[in-house]
Amino acid sequence: MDILFCTSEAYPLIKTGGLADVSGSLPKALHDMGNDIRLVLPAYPEAVAKTERLVPVANLSLEGASAPVEILAGRFPGSRMKVYLVNAPEYFSRSGNPYVQEDGSDWPDNAERFALFARAIVALALDRLGMNWKPELVHCNDWQTGLVPPLLAQHSNRPATLFTIHNLAYQGLFPAETFHTLALPASLWSIDGVEFHGQLSFMKSGIAGADWITTVSPTYAEEIRTSTYGYGLEGLLQYRADHLTGILNGMDCEIWDPATDPWIKRNYDARTLQHKAPNKSALQRQLGLPAKPGQLLFAHIGRLVEQKGVDLILDILDELFLYPVQLVLLGSGDSELEALLSAAATRYPEQLAIHIGYDEQLAHRIKAGADCFLMPSRYEPCGLNQMYSLRYGTVPVVHRTGGLADSVNDLNEKTATDYTATGFSFAQDSSEELLDACTRAIDYFRTSRVDWWKLVITGMRENFCWSESAGQYLDLYIHTCNLVRAGMLETGESEYLAL
Ligand code: ADP
Repeated sequence: MDILFCTSEAYPLIKTGGLADVSGSLPKALHDMGNDIRLVLPAYPEAVAKTERLVPVANLSLEGASAPVEILAGRFPGSRMKVYLVNAPEYFSRSGNPYVQEDGSDWPDNAERFALFARAIVALALDRLGMNWKPELVHCNDWQTGLVPPLLAQHSNRPATLFTIHNLAYQGLFPAETFHTLALPASLWSIDGVEFHGQLSFMKSGIAGADWITTVSPTYAEEIRTSTYGYGLEGLLQYRADHLTGILNGMDCEIWDPATDPWIKRNYDARTLQHKAPNKSALQRQLGLPAKPGQLLFAHIGRLVEQKGVDLILDILDELFLYPVQLVLLGSGDSELEALLSAAATRYPEQLAIHIGYDEQLAHRIKAGADCFLMPSRYEPCGLNQMYSLRYGTVPVVHRTGGLADSVNDLNEKTATDYTATGFSFAQDSSEELLDACTRAIDYFRTSRVDWWKLVITGMRENFCWSESAGQYLDLYIHTCNLVRAGMLETGESEYLAL
């Protein structure tokens, strides 16, 4: 198939979180299966520097840009997959985070930036650049590409569109005036279009306008249709439920492989698990903790935001450290959480190491060195860290929500005896339940090391590599294209397509 994959980040070109991991690895898996899938991103300086063999291929005059927008084409690092970069220096030639300024506030022109990105994607998708390539399907990801489906729907003979929700909480909401500033077609301003309680919603635009919608785990696909997780979009998602599929994200098994990982102290796999131990002592040394092989070492990595439940970890520290255990934490984000964590580290110098910042290598070393990985997320669309941890023999302790519920098998009497357990999970996102799960892990670790290693090995043998999930995407791409070609979208749907 010919597919255009649109994303605002893709590892290793540019990354702020899981979206980059997925956008770097799912297209690669589909490309390896023989599809002509091409990536399109904004030309951030980091992405320009890392894309291989980059050359200008076209110039576009686009609404909202004061100068012609250049389209650059190159190759994804280490692959033959094509990458297009939308080069509009006034909007994208900024170093650092793609969405926020140094003080953590949004770039004030985010709506203009991603509307321009959407318009460039539409031109590419309709082969307006004279490149003699027209995708059969355009795969959009999260709010930054949310305007693409309804803008494409304005054209006949257009490709099919699929929109993936990676995190419904980030909606790309802007004041109503912005709709006019962006000079979007007037027909889009409706309750069936981009209007959301008097505001402009890029996320709603993608959900309402796409031919098919996916999200990143089956459980999250159910959760977002409820008021607890739906952020006001649950009604629309219920309405579109027949065209909504949850597909569990896969992981890049080349980048995240303890047998070959170049950044860890000693490589290992399920048959050479004894070599995990040097990684633990190296990590303890690197982060200034006493090297105590017998103490259970917990870890957490992530954006320091309310979603990830770091405050729950802070809440349990006093009780957790009554046990002979250690915790390492890597993250950045909310400055208040950063300060609270740093203060806690001074209270427990022998047990707690905090590294504030973003450090890809350290993240690999933590996965390899820790015994248990904490993910008390309040909600988690998919989560990748639990999958990486499982592969590195680091037992996940997770809140049973979204993709965490779909990828971690709680240890109980049954799963312990039939060897299907892979971690510890808890039902409510409360500090009591988190502490209870941690103490269950500590007890299990202390009671029988043989049983512990069985739990570890079962997790390492789980297969979350992309092949399975990429196949599901391909089936859905074909199904969506067939529906669009045959004009078989339901009557209700045609209201959206008419936008
Ligand atoms: P989300 O997309 O919500 O941030 P995921 O678990 O899906 O969460 O993916 C997070 C990705 O970002 C993982 O690859 C994780 O290791 C990485 N990551 C998050 N914070 C940091 C950090 N401070 N340093 C290094 N890697 C990080």
